[in-house]
Amino acid sequence: MMKVVQGDITTLGVEAIVNAANTTLLGGGGVDGAIHRAAGPELLAECRTLGGCATGDAKLTKGYRLPAKWVIHTPGPVWRGGEHGEAERLASCYRRSLELAAEKGAKSLAFPAISTGVYGFPAEKAAKIAVQTVREALKGLAGPMEVVFCCFSQKSADFHQKWLAEVEQDPAE
Ligand code: ADP
Repeated sequence: MMKVVQGDITTLGVEAIVNAANTTLLGGGGVDGAIHRAAGPELLAECRTLGGCATGDAKLTKGYRLPAKWVIHTPGPVWRGGEHGEAERLASCYRRSLELAAEKGAKSLAFPAISTGVYGFPAEKAAKIAVQTVREALKGLAGPMEVVFCCFSQKSADFHQKWLAEVEQDPAE
């Protein structure tokens, strides 16, 4: 099951939230900064033990002071024009994050719009990849999973809603 909400991902009462991290996993601006502020300093302490993370991969920590039990840190690709594997790496962020959440037995997971802030990935294109990739990946999971696309801006929420409506109309399902 997939849905779109507009708001601050750090406030959501889901079992796991995804952080649009950078490859150092040592914190940054945007959603990464907001997650570290809300989780408290123990989050950075755990992140320091992880040795970074490759773009398109993901690593899991506890959520500390967040309502969410887990944080899944995934470095998205920096947009460099679209011909440097950006789309495939972004899709991989969504797939790997879902895998890690499922491994922990989480039944709800929220994503921010990975790479669409400082990393410059065009928001509409990114929303399409997010929705299509999650839809495919959910088919491979053993149990149920609620996926929330938590968009900071109304525009981003509208893009996700649009693609969601599109895939839900797919007569193949
Ligand atoms: P990236 O470096 O992957 O582009 P950013 O954090 O700069 O990451 O932006 C990713 C997306 O997260 C952007 O769409 C931004 O508007 C959004 N964002 C920023 N703060 C929050 C928040 N607290 N909750 C949800 N989304 C957020």
